[in-house]
Amino acid sequence: MPPQLSILIVGAGLSGLAAAIQCALSGHSVTVLEAARELAEIGAGLQLTPNATRLLQSWAVYPLIHAPCEPATCTVQDYRGAVLAHEDGFAENCRRKYGAPFADCHRVDLQQALVKRARELGVQVVLGARVCGLDFDLALEDREVGEDDGRTQVQVKVDDGRIWEVDLVVAADGLWSACRSVLLGRRDAPLPTGDLAYRIVLREEQIAELDPRLRDMVGTPGVRFWIGPDAHVVAYSMRGGSMYNVVLLVPDDLEEGVAKVEGSTAEMRALFEGWDPMCVAYLLPLPIHYSTFANGADARLTQLLSRVDKVDKWKLMHREELPSWVNAQSNLVLIGDACHPMLPYLAQGANSSIEDGAVLGLLLSPSHNPKFTSASQLSATLQLFQTLRKARGEAIARETFKQRKDFHMPDGKEREERDRVFAGWLGKKEELEKSKVEFPSRWTCPVVQPWLYGYDAVQEVEGAAGR
Ligand SMILES: Cc1cc2nc3c(=O)[nH]c(=O)nc-3n(C[C@H](O)[C@H](O)[C@H](O)COP(=O)(O)OP(=O)(O)OC[C@H]3O[C@@H](n4cnc5c(N)ncnc54)[C@H](O)[C@@H]3O)c2cc1C
Repeated sequence: MPPQLSILIVGAGLSGLAAAIQCALSGHSVTVLEAARELAEIGAGLQLTPNATRLLQSWAVYPLIHAPCEPATCTVQDYRGAVLAHEDGFAENCRRKYGAPFADCHRVDLQQALVKRARELGVQVVLGARVCGLDFDLALEDREVGEDDGRTQVQVKVDDGRIWEVDLVVAADGLWSACRSVLLGRRDAPLPTGDLAYRIVLREEQIAELDPRLRDMVGTPGVRFWIGPDAHVVAYSMRGGSMYNVVLLVPDDLEEGVAKVEGSTAEMRALFEGWDPMCVAYLLPLPIHYSTFANGADARLTQLLSRVDKVDKWKLMHREELPSWVNAQSNLVLIGDACHPMLPYLAQGANSSIEDGAVLGLLLSPSHNPKFTSASQLSATLQLFQTLRKARGEAIARETFKQRKDFHMPDGKEREERDRVFAGWLGKKEELEKSKVEFPSRWTCPVVQPWLYGYDAVQEVEGAAGR
């Protein structure tokens, strides 16, 4: 019989639910405690990349997501209107290269799909349960497996007085993780990155009011970036094209300690005034440089932003790299934003968190990891988890800052050089792919894209386990 552990996951975010599903599939008894009373529409759109969708498919979660949109194109434009990079057949190419989809969805739709599948697998998901205390040194008295192997249980306390006693706690409590502070033994707050995000969702009725050409653009799933000095915009369709997600990334002007506030739509519009002027060439096939035809009065972004009636400003935060993701007793492990939050500039926060959950659960399965045959191997297994995941999670986080540098360049020589690189590869997708050179947009970079999207958690675990 494979060892069965009692696993408690703190947080029903994307990392926690991914871990819950894979740990349940590996035969463990899993409980997820979530502070929120309901799984509401927190956040907005989410870009799912093949490194995570291959897992969502293998868990039978992908078909449960409400109307994901696979973007037909990926386009990067200069804030003055010039097309810098463009790929047709983007989602198709992703499926061909990586064997799994690239898809845009609403965060809550993914979260609900994960919860549904987790519950089907017997996971107990408890809402309205805020974890407020962890005691790691509980003696194991009534254990059923093995003789004394020095392991201890964890006592988990919830703020309404309920208590759980489990073999392993998985801290998936996000950016503001309290478990992280417990692991470190001191209060540890996230750090500002210097940027903030305006998050916008245009609903069906707002889209209906757009200029017909703009409505067509919104209705044709594509990932679109506009990049300019110190700022960029990313936009894509979700829920089958009935919603349009727009994120504006700008320098942070929120006070210290303020994580999220309602923003002023007027202030937001002023920041992007004159960006992406519409022009005659808008109607012509790509690739084309059309800044010369600019007519600021018709700017597409200005039009999109003019429909926004409500917007939230989110301070973008990150964290120092931790010395360890596992506690000394080997009964607490951190995953997701609790240990490697990042800028959202490569859309990898959730995707890499899903990878974390998968790798952890797979390592706890003797059929994927033959070395895990007894609960006494938990410590070695968590160390292997850390070896496999820490370097990657932290490397992705660092890469997001490099994307900021390349997207947010001020006007000047360095930007001109960047644009020469963009221009040199425009319309040469196949050549770019074969070249294996670094490209300023990592979204289609032949070096970074395969490293991000080509990751296969199952292969990673089975390779490390010597299968
Ligand atoms: C503007 C923006 C755009 C983004 N776009 C993308 C994208 O396109 N693709 C992508 O991959 N990523 C994206 N991300 C990042 C992504 O949202 C996060 O990386 C991801 O949600 C992290 O998942 P998590 O489960 O680790 O944390 P979270 O999603 O934050 O979940 C943590 C959960 O723990 C719960 N919790 C906290 N404390 C406790 C406690 N004490 N007891 C019980 N429960 C607790 C919380 O209520 C929450 O539900 C974006 C982020 C931002 C800000």
